[in-house]
Amino acid sequence: MVRRKERETGACPRCNESKSNIHIVMCKGPGTEATFLAAMETVQDWLDQGPSQFALAIIELIHSHRNQVQPRWHLIDSHETQQIVQ
Ligand SMILES: [Zn+2]
Repeated sequence: MVRRKERETGACPRCNESKSNIHIVMCKGPGTEATFLAAMETVQDWLDQGPSQFALAIIELIHSHRNQVQPRWHLIDSHETQQIVQ
C-alpha cells in the first residue's frame, strides 16, 4: 500500500505495528478475529470441494501460522497428506 502510495506508512491500520506483509494473517488487532474467521469460512467452502484430508491440513496450517504454534499433526491422519504439507 505504501509502495502504491495509497498509504503514508507501512504500519498496520488495525494495530499500528509496522510489520511485513505476512502480518496481515497474524494481526490480532481490533476486529481481525471476526474478519479472519469469516475469511476462513470462505476457505472452508472452497476446500470442501476437494479431498477432505487435504482441506483439514490446509486449515490446520493456516491456524497454526496465525497463532505461531506447531500444527497439530495428529489431526491429519493421512500419512500421505502429512508428507505433502510438511
Ligand atoms: Zn496489525
